[in-house]
Amino acid sequence: MKTGNHLSPIQRCSFCFGKVEYVNNEKIYGSSYGHHPFAYLCGDCGAYVGVHAGTKIPLGTLADASLRTARKLAKEPFLKLCKNMDRTLAYFKLSHLLCIAMKECHFGWFNVEMCGKAYTASCELLAEEKSK
Ligand SMILES: [Zn+2]
Repeated sequence: MKTGNHLSPIQRCSFCFGKVEYVNNEKIYGSSYGHHPFAYLCGDCGAYVGVHAGTKIPLGTLADASLRTARKLAKEPFLKLCKNMDRTLAYFKLSHLLCIAMKECHFGWFNVEMCGKAYTASCELLAEEKSK
């Protein structure tokens, strides 16, 4: 497990500046989900993010519906890439194309704009890999 690279607990919503609470994720999904069913949830706009199992450390930054969709889409070509290549190497190549540090290269940290760039970059890497 990586350490020294974690986000702090979330108190304010990055979308609406509402108050964010640490909740059981049944508040989001209707029933508890997972072994460690907790999340940060904005009571005002409903943006949320899960936490690392056994901790209060958020998995990424808060995401509203459009950002959740963007992250999911961006991750698809990257996951395909990881089937053909070591995950660490894939993250290394992606961070290089995105011009960010590898330790900042987490889909859970990206905003919508970065998700778009990550999607394009991952597709390029995937095409490159297939042409070998
Ligand atoms: Zn909010």
